[in-house]
Amino acid sequence: QLPLALILSLLLAGIAWLATASRMSFSWEINMGIASREFDVWCQPLLNTGDKTCTGVEILLRWDNPRLGPIPPDVFIPLAEEHHLIATLTRYVISETVRQIEVFPQDPHFHVGFNVAAGHFVDGVLLRDLNHYWFSAHPHQQLIVELTERDALHDVDYRLIRELHRKGIKLAIDDFGTGNSSFSWLEKLRPDVLKIDKSFTHAIGTDAVNSTVTDIIIALGQRLKIVLVAEGVETQEQAQYLELHGVHILQGYLYARPMPLSALPQWLADHHQT
Ligand code: C2E
Ligand code: CA
Ligand code: CA
Ligand code: CA
Repeated sequence: QLPLALILSLLLAGIAWLATASRMSFSWEINMGIASREFDVWCQPLLNTGDKTCTGVEILLRWDNPRLGPIPPDVFIPLAEEHHLIATLTRYVISETVRQIEVFPQDPHFHVGFNVAAGHFVDGVLLRDLNHYWFSAHPHQQLIVELTERDALHDVDYRLIRELHRKGIKLAIDDFGTGNSSFSWLEKLRPDVLKIDKSFTHAIGTDAVNSTVTDIIIALGQRLKIVLVAEGVETQEQAQYLELHGVHILQGYLYARPMPLSALPQWLADHHQT
C-alpha cells in the first residue's frame, strides 16, 4: 500500500502538470493561429448621429480555429492577456489591417479604431508597433486607440498616453461606466472619446437605474467636450433617444453588424446610396 503522502504528492504533481500543459497548449494555439493566419480582421461601421454617414470603423478580431472551432473574442482575448500574448496578437491585428488598407475610403476624417489592452501600453511597445506598422505605411486615416476601462489603471503608462496625443492618435475609453475607476480615468487620460457600453444603450426605455446612468455619462461627456459614441444600438427607439440627448456617434446592429474588412467597400457603397 502506498502511503497517503505519496499519493497526495503524485496527485498534486499531476494537477500541476495538467495546468502547465493546458497553459502551454493555449499559448501554442495562439502562436499557431497567428502563424497560419487563422485570425480574421473584421470591422464594424460607426455612424454620425445626425446624417448617418459613416465616420469610421472599429476593428474586431475573429478566430475560426480549425482544431477547436470558432472561439469568440470575449473568450480568447482575456486568455491572450493572461498568457502575455496580447501585444503579439494586437501587432498582428494592426499589420493585417494595414495589409488591407485599401478597403478604407481615402478620407482624412475616416477613423480606424483598434482595441488595445493596458498590458500593451507599457514600455513604449504599442507606440513602436504603431510606428512600425501604421505610420510607416503612411495611412491617411485617423487612428483611435480604444482602451477598456476594465483594465487596471496602474498598468497604463501616462507618458505614453501623452506621446499618443502628440502623434495625433485619439484615445477612447471603451465600455465606459462598467469599470470602477471611471472618474479618475477621465482626469488622468484626458480621452478624446467615450464609448458608452452597450449595457447602458440597452437600458434605454427598459431599466430606470441604468438609463439614468446613461444620461449622466452623456452629461459628463458634454461638459468635458468629449466625443460620445454609443455602442450596441439595436433599435430605432435607442437611436432616437441617443440623438435627442446629443450623442455624436452610433454603432450597432441597427446599422451594421461586424463584417470582414473585405466587405467594407461594398457596404459603404450600398449605405451611401440609400
Ligand atoms: P468591444 O470592444 O466592446 O466591442 C463591441 C462588441 O459589441 C463586439 O463584440 C461587437 O460585435 C458587439 N456589438 C456591436 N454592435 C452590437 C449590437 O448592436 N448589439 C450587441 N449585442 N452587440 C454588438 P465582439 O466582436 O464579440 O468582441 C467582444 C470584445 O472582444 C470586444 O468588445 C473587445 O473588448 C474584445 N476584442 C475584439 N477584438 C479585439 C482585438 O482585436 N483586440 C482586443 N484587445 N480586444 C478585442
Ligand atoms: Ca472596443
Ligand atoms: Ca465597448
Ligand atoms: Ca463591451
